[in-house]
Amino acid sequence: MGNRKKTKTVQIGKVLIGGGSPVRIQSMCTTPTRDVEATVAQIQELEAAGCEIIRVACPTEKDANALGAIKKRIKIPLVADIHFNYRLALIALDQGIDKLRLNPGNIGSRDRIETVVAKAKERKVPIRIGVNGGSLEKDLLEKYGHPTPEALVESASRHVKILEALGFYDIVLSLKASDVPAMVAAYRLASETFDYPLHLGVTEAGTLLRGSVYNAIGVGTLLQEGIGDTIRISLSAESVEEVKVARFILEALGLRKFGPRVVACPSCGRAEVDVFKLANEVETRAMKLKDPMTISVLGCVVNGPGEAHESDFGITGGKEKGMIYIDGKQERVVPEAKLVDELFNEIQKRKQKKQENKT
Ligand code: SF4
Repeated sequence: MGNRKKTKTVQIGKVLIGGGSPVRIQSMCTTPTRDVEATVAQIQELEAAGCEIIRVACPTEKDANALGAIKKRIKIPLVADIHFNYRLALIALDQGIDKLRLNPGNIGSRDRIETVVAKAKERKVPIRIGVNGGSLEKDLLEKYGHPTPEALVESASRHVKILEALGFYDIVLSLKASDVPAMVAAYRLASETFDYPLHLGVTEAGTLLRGSVYNAIGVGTLLQEGIGDTIRISLSAESVEEVKVARFILEALGLRKFGPRVVACPSCGRAEVDVFKLANEVETRAMKLKDPMTISVLGCVVNGPGEAHESDFGITGGKEKGMIYIDGKQERVVPEAKLVDELFNEIQKRKQKKQENKT
């Protein structure tokens, strides 16, 4: 974390962002917020996958009024996403939310802004200003022609000034664009301009594969430069996929460790086991574990033993069977159908041993 830009620390419920805190993972529910059961179930699934802050949409009073009931049943901070309607922001604050996503310049008259900001201040609820290339102010579009980085930063500055003029500094900023180079440039400029924590994301990034790649490049480039305090990977896919991709991006950059890392080969004509199936099964099961470790899954002996040597646990394929490695050493040969189960039995045994040694 050494070269990270030092931003102001903002507290969202019990979670700190900015100021050298770990880069936090966020996501957004796809359920109607007023459906408390479905929303809580989705949030619990996301919590288990590693989500640290969750946002829900609040388009109506019914949705805003459901926030308190949701908050009571989840562990991670709850963020209400409000557009235009200051009354919904007031309800959300009364319901005990941990953060507001709201652009103060979009909620109307001065007294409305003051009322919302005063309540947020009193309850110590931070506000994220979320500037988006797709909803930039008309005059800025006319001035710049497109949602350029300068236009996005100028829009953010306007909202920031409104809050600062009211003595409100618990601010997080996002400047999202669907064009990756534009998004990167906007955040770079924002990082030079503001000291508030930055919430990174490529907006409307697309489906699972495309969106993951676009986000990995956009968000990853910025994180590598030390820019960014929290990330949301927008995907046209289940929210849990967003959390997984966010985890992989942070792990790939060495910024966070969440559990096992699965190293797997791409397979080739030499493989005598189904590498894709094995790798996917191992990845799915490894995602549920918390202890950091490396697990290698390789199709044959060309690279298998070498990679296993560098791993805590490994599988190397042979003819419809495979060798299990532990700490780089050959353990035993297992039929292909039992490889994954046997591997996770060994991982479980190791965990139990560790726990016994502790007690
Ligand atoms: S480890 Fe073996 S099967 Fe996998 S890509 Fe390398 S040579 Fe092919």
